[in-house]
Amino acid sequence: MHSRREFLRKVSASSMLLSGLPWTISASGDLESPPQGKVIRVAIMGLGSYASRVANAMQDCTHAKLVGAISGTPQKLKDWQNKYGIPEKNCYHYNDFDSIKNNPDIDVVYVITPNALHRPHVLQAASAGKHVICEKPMAINAKEGQEMIDACKKAKVKLLVGYRMHFEPKTLEIIRQREAGIYGKVLYFNGQSGFVIGDPKQWRLNKELSGGGAMMDIGIYSVNGARYMIGEEPIWVTAEETKTNPLKFKEGVDETILFQLGFAGGAVASCLSTYSMNNLDKFFLNGEKGFAELNPATGYGPIEGRTSLGELNFPHVAHQTLQLDEMAGILLEDRKPVVAVDGEEALKDLKIIDAIYRAVKSGKKETLNL
Ligand code: NAD
Repeated sequence: MHSRREFLRKVSASSMLLSGLPWTISASGDLESPPQGKVIRVAIMGLGSYASRVANAMQDCTHAKLVGAISGTPQKLKDWQNKYGIPEKNCYHYNDFDSIKNNPDIDVVYVITPNALHRPHVLQAASAGKHVICEKPMAINAKEGQEMIDACKKAKVKLLVGYRMHFEPKTLEIIRQREAGIYGKVLYFNGQSGFVIGDPKQWRLNKELSGGGAMMDIGIYSVNGARYMIGEEPIWVTAEETKTNPLKFKEGVDETILFQLGFAGGAVASCLSTYSMNNLDKFFLNGEKGFAELNPATGYGPIEGRTSLGELNFPHVAHQTLQLDEMAGILLEDRKPVVAVDGEEALKDLKIIDAIYRAVKSGKKETLNL
């Protein structure tokens, strides 16, 4: 339960966002402007397709700067040095990465490698004394996620997860409207997350590297979305899996899962996660007095949405630009975002995904204790 003070703080924080003003909240609870002149200096680990998107978006950041890169491919490091003006001394191979601890010009390592490598890479970055941003899913199960949280605590570094939607203006406006009571008591969420996955040889379809299938990669958006759209934590889950292509989607790699989440306040979420259908990126939230919908809900944007109050109209800014600028405030000044992006937040999604996989096997309602 939110206190009234906290509720008002969040509402006014979101209202400030609408006016284009900064919206994060300091540890003491006061609204503040962004860290003036302070910048997080980021090294990206794993120079694949999403890393390139992040690097490009960071060029427009005010409070985050791409200064380093870690890769197993020397040519990629050269390409990134040329493209982004990264100095040679801030480039590392995975083998010599530990020496990053002696580099005072890098504050944060952003891990953008395949899912199963997040845990070893985050542990390595933490033991080098660097803050860590890790891509979703934070880990391939809750046990590994907890180890990562513990390691970062022990190393006295912060662990954030790349939940870019937590800074997206239309998403935040829906959260503001819900908290302002516009939708009344919320009773239903529908999340549809999926796309047709191509190359059967890619790491996303290799359990050793992915930790699962569509659920780990795209279904997690509906898991996480159900939580921030409803604004509560689920207390049970049921799930059913279907597989039309067991050759492409081998044992342990889920193709399609339908899952339901139950919330203490009486709301239910009904969601679809799939690697076999396109046109699935939709959120719908229904309350006794109003509704909200996002379609597309979590793609790279522009996000489109409307609520019972009308169309949502905010200019599109690259999600990763907003994310990195806001994460600078979280890392440098301990600010609190409207929706958390720390390891504990990501651990909840991993506990739910663990329970979804258990429910697929048991065919029963699995209890959650988040
Ligand atoms: P990708 O295959 O394009 O890139 C992965 C990178 O990791 C490559 O540069 C690859 O060389 C490197 N790598 C290091 N060790 C490897 C190994 N043993 N096997 C394979 N590759 C290895 O993948 P991607 O799409 O960039 O995804 C990377 C991570 O980012 C994933 O965890 C994914 O879930 C996440 N992601 C997040 C978003 C988002 O919107 N937040 C979007 C896409 C991907």
